[in-house]
Amino acid sequence: MSLVTEHASNTNILGGCHCGAIRFRVKVRKYEAIACNCSICQKKGILHLIVPPEDFELLKGEDNLSTYTFNTGIAKHHFCKTCGIHPFYRPR
Ligand SMILES: [Zn+2]
Repeated sequence: MSLVTEHASNTNILGGCHCGAIRFRVKVRKYEAIACNCSICQKKGILHLIVPPEDFELLKGEDNLSTYTFNTGIAKHHFCKTCGIHPFYRPR
């Protein structure tokens, strides 16, 4: 399922976890939220805004990330070691 809520071009958005240890910048070319029906996304209850790797920049917190994988192990589900929030992930 995909929801397009707003259109903008090349907007830089800052994001991160709850405690502030992890911060990132992402270039959003299209505001499109995707609801994934896989097992982990259903548990998290999140919507995805997918961007190409070159539009994502981790600003701080590399050392504070932990990674959960399952099944094929290709998707990297990152979360903050301190607060547990999953601010981003790297999809299959
Ligand atoms: Zn945190």
